[in-house]
Amino acid sequence: MFLSQLGPDQRDSAISQLATENFDIVVIGGGVTGVGAALDAASRGLKVALIDSQDIASGTSSRSSKLIHGGLRYLEQYDFKLVREALHERELMVSTLCPHLVKPVGFLFPLTEKFKERTYVGAGLALYDALRGFQRALPWHKHLSQKQINEIAPSLRHDIVTGAIKYFDAQVDDARHTMSVARTAARHGAIIATRVAAESLIREGKRVVGVNARDLETGKKIAIKAGATIMCAGIWSDELHEKFELKAGYGVTMSKGVHIVLPGSAIKSDAGIILKTAVSVLFLIPWGDKWIVGTTDTPYDGDRAEPYASREDVQYILDQANRVLEPKLMAEEIIGVYAGLRPLVANIKSATTTKLSREHTVDRPAPGFVSIAGGKYTTYRVMGKDAVDRAVIELRRITQDSVTEKLPLVGADGYFALEQQKERIAQESGLAVETVTHLLNRYGSLISEILELIAQEPKLAKKLDADLPYIKAEIVYAATHEGARTVDDVISRRTRLAFEAEGHGVHLADEVGALIAPVLGWSAKERKESIAAYEELVDRELAALDELLEANS
Ligand SMILES: Cc1cc2nc3c(=O)[nH]c(=O)nc-3n(C[C@H](O)[C@H](O)[C@H](O)COP(=O)(O)OP(=O)(O)OC[C@H]3O[C@@H](n4cnc5c(N)ncnc54)[C@H](O)[C@@H]3O)c2cc1C
Repeated sequence: MFLSQLGPDQRDSAISQLATENFDIVVIGGGVTGVGAALDAASRGLKVALIDSQDIASGTSSRSSKLIHGGLRYLEQYDFKLVREALHERELMVSTLCPHLVKPVGFLFPLTEKFKERTYVGAGLALYDALRGFQRALPWHKHLSQKQINEIAPSLRHDIVTGAIKYFDAQVDDARHTMSVARTAARHGAIIATRVAAESLIREGKRVVGVNARDLETGKKIAIKAGATIMCAGIWSDELHEKFELKAGYGVTMSKGVHIVLPGSAIKSDAGIILKTAVSVLFLIPWGDKWIVGTTDTPYDGDRAEPYASREDVQYILDQANRVLEPKLMAEEIIGVYAGLRPLVANIKSATTTKLSREHTVDRPAPGFVSIAGGKYTTYRVMGKDAVDRAVIELRRITQDSVTEKLPLVGADGYFALEQQKERIAQESGLAVETVTHLLNRYGSLISEILELIAQEPKLAKKLDADLPYIKAEIVYAATHEGARTVDDVISRRTRLAFEAEGHGVHLADEVGALIAPVLGWSAKERKESIAAYEELVDRELAALDELLEANS
């Protein structure tokens, strides 16, 4: 039996195990694809290691639209296989794998024309619902009249929106989900270490037999020996193929997608809204008491680790949303902005990124080495399985089949029952019912570990900020159990303060630093440096938004 806890002691022992043990599989990359592969392999009974050069989910997997969806727009590209597969994954996540994290969300597809458009969109949504077969965790789509729209979404312009169709998809806190998959992999024996970068491959003749890595916290080199290496490096794939001197079967094109975050009061609607744009779609997604609006889709070739929203990106989102909203969204209302890079698998480098397939590709450019890229967040489990299915051939022995379709993530067990006991939990713990609900939706049955921290130190039950739902125990827990190593890890990914709090949560950095410093054994200098690093990151991120506000003033 293994523990799912990712904390400082676990990292220390992971680093020494990486250097001394022989693994069946080493995974490069702790985005959702990498952690999915690690979980798949570990739950087959294989000995697995996973390294990421930054934090779990610090790449694309924390910067998505956070939708677990079939991808309505892929229907227009006749990509029925991808839609069906994604809808199956959506059903699994909502009902079995992680119901505490993945929740249904309703969307309105506004119609501006009375008959033709309703027939076309209605047929598309009927097909979308039909493609999931007999699985029905989410309601069927529904046609709405203009009168109903006025009640549900008063912010939609009555002069141009003549009706709508409501359909359902699901949403997730992507970074939290990726971290939960990583913890589940650890629970099944995977060794996980962040801030460990793959630098080169260990070869015996032509065969790859492991990875030469570096612990970026100490600078120490680590030779990780493994029967097969799986690279899940997303947008870093081309760079690493080159570094590893491999002739890859695919290239990865990057496409930038930006989202803005607005207060709940900016849009009056009881459901999300999807709008067709000239190049893609724009989502207005309810996010707690806020809205996430995006995204853009533009070719990108800048810095992979820190993509920023430009003034044009933000203006584009406002313009597209404002086509149908009254009152219009204003730049001054924006609370947060984030940008992500889509890893699009491409055969022809000059192709325009919007038209490329979102399906994934598995490649085996050298004996003992498998790589995978592309796909969608929603299909991570299938991607992990496909990569491991290919990698186990390299082990040249009989191995077990994937069981992840039946394997709930940590926190999922007993969630539905706990959900019904929240009043009692609130009473016994002294927390407000809404805080218990918030905790259940982030930790599921692992809420007991948070409550234990509070029992030891009651002041951790206090909120970090009166306007936000997070309590102090969650910040400590991020470092003790969820592998957070910096102030940025906590503000940007273990919580989503980076885009939910005013000013990207910079005013909370001091307190976050103070709460995690004892867990991480920081000196006063290390604590200051971690806070300063977050402040500098925000300065760089906010530059474009400031430019836009100045231009509009
Ligand atoms: C704007 C946007 C919106 C999206 N919306 C959705 C959506 O709503 N629904 C959906 O299903 N999909 C969505 N996607 C797609 C989805 O987010 C991605 O397909 C998915 O997150 C990719 O995950 P990944 O693990 O392949 O890559 P990543 O998450 O980028 O992981 C790659 C990892 O490799 C690590 N790495 C790099 N180099 C090294 C090295 N040398 N050593 C060790 N580690 C290394 C990186 O640090 C990184 O953590 C969206 C994408 C974008 C950009």
